[in-house]
Amino acid sequence: MSDSTALIGTKVSGRRRRPKAVDGLRVCSSPRCSTRLSRYNRNGTCYMHSPITFPRVRGRDIPVVDV
Ligand SMILES: [Zn+2]
Repeated sequence: MSDSTALIGTKVSGRRRRPKAVDGLRVCSSPRCSTRLSRYNRNGTCYMHSPITFPRVRGRDIPVVDV
């Protein structure tokens, strides 16, 4: 079956963006917490001490948190 309107995809090529990384060893800034932070963790605290954030996802309702 040959259809002249068929779409032909192309392979993804080219350099992709490097993930943002922070150099050096960093430790959670929360007192009495010595968790080493990942180079890709842009926050100053570990996961346990970071404020809760919700990613914005299209097509979904933003979760409501009662404080
Ligand atoms: Zn911590």
